[in-house]
Amino acid sequence: METTASINELIFNPNLPIDSELNLLVMATAWGLVFVIALWWYLTNKTSPAPSTTTQAPSSIKTAATEVPWSTRLRQGLERTRSSLSGSLANLFQGSTKLNDELLEKIHEILYRADVGTRTADRLVKHLGKTLAGNSELSWPEIQEELKSEINSIFAATESPMKHPTSGPLVILVIGVNGVGKTTTIAKIANQYVNENKRVLLCAADTYRAAAIDQLKVWGERVGAEVIAHQPGSDPASVAYDGVKAAIARKADVLLIDTAGRLHNKKELMAELEKINRVIGKDLPEAPHESWLVIDATTGQNAIVQIQAFHELVKLSGLVVTKLDGTAKGGVVIAAADRFKLPIRYIGVGEKAGDLRPFKGSDYADSLFD
Ligand code: GDP
Ligand code: GDP
Ligand code: MG
Repeated sequence: METTASINELIFNPNLPIDSELNLLVMATAWGLVFVIALWWYLTNKTSPAPSTTTQAPSSIKTAATEVPWSTRLRQGLERTRSSLSGSLANLFQGSTKLNDELLEKIHEILYRADVGTRTADRLVKHLGKTLAGNSELSWPEIQEELKSEINSIFAATESPMKHPTSGPLVILVIGVNGVGKTTTIAKIANQYVNENKRVLLCAADTYRAAAIDQLKVWGERVGAEVIAHQPGSDPASVAYDGVKAAIARKADVLLIDTAGRLHNKKELMAELEKINRVIGKDLPEAPHESWLVIDATTGQNAIVQIQAFHELVKLSGLVVTKLDGTAKGGVVIAAADRFKLPIRYIGVGEKAGDLRPFKGSDYADSLFD
């Protein structure tokens, strides 16, 4: 660069008078400073990128829910599960058929492939055998109605109202393995409460990565919820403790606690979760009122293993099933309900705020069939 070249020439010119040399020294120092600041700016921006997941968040989160009716979103989201389950079953019943053992076996296999699990597939097939065996001529609509009705009764048996605080904030602890959608789910739920004019606090008890804390902060700002956070690497139980204290002090209606993803087979992390759970109850003995495990529907039957492990440690009061869009494994919702009798609180069928809704068993069962 021309300016730099001339500065260099001048600095090393022995013929210049002293005061000019001083001026040049000041200029050189200034240039040096500019360089150091530019380098620092470049490095900090390079090493702490914005959390990737936040870039996928819709910017107009408050209006997203009203664009397409939920029933349509749910049907769209369950497209792959429906075509795998209902599509294959319908093929078995081209015309009228007699329900014999061979056909029941085929139905079982299709249910199993949609990740309903052996145990629940057994139950559904047994139900069909019992209710329809006498009929000599059966059509697909009849089979469909019986399946829907039995799936409905599986969900009905899990229904249980959310626990609400007698006083103070409602505290919801959100847990699960890595990447299942805990943080985005929290943001979406917070958004719904904020839209009901509730005061919502988010607690960043995922302290493992700075990006995780930033992600929650960005979401908090976007949905209009305050965020309680400590430094990265701090004790998650301690943040949770402060979150409860802050929620009480600020008279919040809802406190949603985000936690780090942990594998159910990692002992120390599970012990840490137990501690978080215990500490939350120190100032608010009934809390957490709700403890929800988030499971990712695309993992299929592994979700069942996760529920089992987490449920043994933290008494779960509900499940959230995400990513039902883009998977044919939506049957896992039925398997989970049947096996653990845990209410499904919310389901997610996409990344937009309106893609997460409170679960309704009958809507879900309807959306699985044509
Ligand atoms: P966490 O590690 O459990 O906190 O997971 P995040 O909340 O960071 O989410 C991980 C990724 O899953 C993000 O890219 C989310 O946008 C995405 N995600 C969450 N829920 C859904 C859903 O219902 N459908 C789809 N397709 N993606 C989802
Ligand atoms: P212990 O770990 O079983 O001995 O249980 P403690 O009663 O010592 O509390 C466990 C955790 O709760 C601590 O490690 C802290 O993270 C948190 N905790 C307890 N009391 C406080 C408090 O007054 N302030 C904060 N910030 N955290 C607390
Ligand atoms: Mg997270």
